[in-house]
Amino acid sequence: MELLKEKIRQEGIVLEGGVLKVDTFLNHQVDAGLMMAMGQAFAELFGEAGVTKIMTVESSGIAPAVMAAYLMSIPMVFARKRKSLTMQSDLYSEKIYSYTKQEESEVTVSKKFLEQGDRVLIIDDFLANGEAALGMARIAEHAGAEVAGIGIVIEKSFQAGRGKLIEHGYRVESLARIASLDGGVVTFV
Ligand code: 5GP
Repeated sequence: MELLKEKIRQEGIVLEGGVLKVDTFLNHQVDAGLMMAMGQAFAELFGEAGVTKIMTVESSGIAPAVMAAYLMSIPMVFARKRKSLTMQSDLYSEKIYSYTKQEESEVTVSKKFLEQGDRVLIIDDFLANGEAALGMARIAEHAGAEVAGIGIVIEKSFQAGRGKLIEHGYRVESLARIASLDGGVVTFV
């Protein structure tokens, strides 16, 4: 998606450890027009995939996910992050290791919001090692739902995530794919 790539070129800041900071339009301040264009791109890519629900993790996945859900006229559910507590029987829960925070967190979705037979489109802001997307996919599958696809805003293609998701048989569509952040420079695939 050319508009997104241009925004990353102009406003993205490369941090230590292969982390890209895009807090001017996605991770802190949000560019609503760009989010709507992303929603449109996801709606076009997955329009024929029979998606019944969009799933993301709070917080930065919510903005693009809600735009896609609006355009596809389906609900969006975001998994909530919380510190590990005792198991609750009304929740699906999975542990996810966060690449940027270097810590494990638990993500949960109420059993009310995922049903057997749902076809879930997972949307997230970044794909690095695939932990977040795989955690959401496990939650969907626990509920007896099917993963219709995974939509990513910014894929760091130099990390293992895409390969892992493809290995699991998931369809992965990314709006921008970054080949390298070496030397503080963003190079797209
Ligand atoms: P993964 O689970 O694929 O290893 O990492 C994806 C999650 O980590 C995303 O939900 C995102 O929150 C965070 N993340 C990974 N890499 C980056 C990055 O370069 N920049 C930002 N802002 N977040 C990242």
